[in-house]
Amino acid sequence: MAKVTVDENECTGCGICYNDECPEVFVEGSDGTSNLQEKYRKGNAHSGEIPDDKKDCAKKAEDACPVSAIKVE
Ligand code: SF4
Repeated sequence: MAKVTVDENECTGCGICYNDECPEVFVEGSDGTSNLQEKYRKGNAHSGEIPDDKKDCAKKAEDACPVSAIKVE
């Protein structure tokens, strides 16, 4: 498992993570920011845990995010 968070204050809603790099983990939220897919959320829409087989994809999104809003650890 890996912990994933999206800083909603930094996220510009550009869509790179949820449209291009990793739609398996990220989805556009109602406010336009990136949310975690519902099944991976823990507590709120911007943080949660993903299985190991989704880690590479989430890491690609982390690297691609232009404002470094995604953290995968
Ligand atoms: S790539 Fe970064 S800025 Fe763009 S929607 Fe995803 S978290 Fe937000």
